Amino acid sequence: MSQEATKEPQPATPAQPAKVFAGAVYECVRCGTRTTQEELAKLPEVKCICGYRVFRKARPAVVKQIKAV
Ligand SMILES: [Zn+2]
Repeated sequence: MSQEATKEPQPATPAQPAKVFAGAVYECVRCGTRTTQEELAKLPEVKCICGYRVFRKARPAVVKQIKAV
């Protein structure tokens, strides 16, 4: 009695990168230098130019235009 578990070939899911917000801006809590997620991703380690490693999420550089009526 062997249960033949027919394993169906699962569809190859393309390797999707972690969901990152394109254009997310991070701000060094020490010197306030703003850098983007993309810039941080290029670096071997998340580190500010000042050497500090603590970032906080800053508001993206998107200016909401509010129409004043
Ligand atoms: Zn810094």
